[in-house]
Amino acid sequence: MRLSSRILAPTLDADPMLRATDKILNYQKQKGPMTADKTTSAPIVRFAPSPTGYLHIGGARTALFNWLYARGRGGKFLLRIEDTDRERNNEAAVAAILDGLKWLELDWDGEAVSQFARGDRHRAIADELLARGAAYHCYCSPSEIEAAREQAKAEGRPQIFLSPWRDRDPKDAPTDIKPVVRLKAARDGETIVNDHVQGRVVFPNKDLDDLIIVRSDGNPTYNLAVVVDDHDMGITQVVRGVDHLTNTARQTQIYLGMHWTVPEFAHVPLIHGPDGAKLSKRHGAQAVQDYRAMGYLPVALRNYLVRLGWSHGDDEIISTEQLLEWFDIDGIGKSAARFDFKKLEDLNGHYIRHSSDDELVTRLIDLLPEIEGGTTIDAKIDAAMRAKLVRAMPSMKERAKTLLELIDGAQFLFSARPIARDEKAEKILDADARATLKALHTRFTAVTEWTSTALEDEVRSYSEETGAKLGKVAQPLRAALTGRAVSPPVFDVLDVLGREESLARIADCVT
Ligand code: GLU
Repeated sequence: MRLSSRILAPTLDADPMLRATDKILNYQKQKGPMTADKTTSAPIVRFAPSPTGYLHIGGARTALFNWLYARGRGGKFLLRIEDTDRERNNEAAVAAILDGLKWLELDWDGEAVSQFARGDRHRAIADELLARGAAYHCYCSPSEIEAAREQAKAEGRPQIFLSPWRDRDPKDAPTDIKPVVRLKAARDGETIVNDHVQGRVVFPNKDLDDLIIVRSDGNPTYNLAVVVDDHDMGITQVVRGVDHLTNTARQTQIYLGMHWTVPEFAHVPLIHGPDGAKLSKRHGAQAVQDYRAMGYLPVALRNYLVRLGWSHGDDEIISTEQLLEWFDIDGIGKSAARFDFKKLEDLNGHYIRHSSDDELVTRLIDLLPEIEGGTTIDAKIDAAMRAKLVRAMPSMKERAKTLLELIDGAQFLFSARPIARDEKAEKILDADARATLKALHTRFTAVTEWTSTALEDEVRSYSEETGAKLGKVAQPLRAALTGRAVSPPVFDVLDVLGREESLARIADCVT
């Protein structure tokens, strides 16, 4: 962010707000732009998800942008759970968000803040706004508001509700109606958002009604809570989805009403599906956890997500270290990015190839409880099996695009004798193939050193001596050892299974 983003409401008609504007302008003069580039003060940013049951992929990208911005500048990345909707909120939904962020390796500073727990503070600020004359009690019932809207519509006027209680003497207030608290927003002039992604966005104040900040049941509204929390948490830059842009204009008026410094804003575009429509359930996976279950690595998903909307030249594969160095809000484009599963897969394949064997095995084992049939495999993982998996990784990881493919490729390790064979393997194991296996069994038994090269030499000399093509020899071996027609390189399979198990599996196909 290099631009100075200030939100100005130059012709506000409410007196307290006018003073607030002056104050902000003065603040700017004194301190210059509050922009945190690498040479100025460290930013304090936040991710503020509403707990909806999972961490949405779009939310994860917002979190990642904030995390990169803070961590790349020695700043702070805070987490606030916007849990004021008590019906939708529950512990499991909060846990899902924390779990998703942890898996993506986006660590936050301090404890996560619960917005709901801060209700008293939000109400106190509403009281302060009332005391300053920047807010008022409105006693209009929903039916009165509806009727006023209908009338405005019939008369062709804008359907903004102008509460009569804005200027009425509170002494006239009915005693049997619980009022809402509304912000006394500016009616003239404009609210301007100098957004770091969207540019200069102008909201005529006449289009923004007097926002309700406390409901009649005493509960603060979302827009009030966000402003109070962002202020109290010392947030300097708000990076969030473009769907909050109108809220920003409204929230600005609350900042002004409180004479608080308005943070800088960057509203990032939405993510679209491959067909160009807003990403939704019908495009497939929505939750970060779904991507984990599909066998993606967090580093690959991070690289993929950051490239969805942000670019650094033509670079596609960007390490986290490079991201921390290069990432800036200025590189975020204005148009919505399209999700491309093929690209994600390719990136994942890259990161799998570049992961250590040990790390891959750890991740693969961690994934087992989440996949179908995984618990049965999990039960077979002991130290010896883990060691075999690590040994199988170098050749397997060359081809795999996901951890699921790695698990699938490693199935031969988990099978118990006599191993099950699929149809194709059965077909390969005809009389000729079994004769080949018998001969190989004899040769392999005589091998002194059980290594993939020694075994390959043995198979090559057999094929030279008999004139059988190498593939004709390797396929029966593969079928006997793995029960499939496709597997990791067969000499690696022999090596990883070891002498005893390999010979026994071959023998199972001979007799
Ligand atoms: N809780 C909002 C959401 O999940 C985000 C609000 C904000 O970032 O200001 O969409």
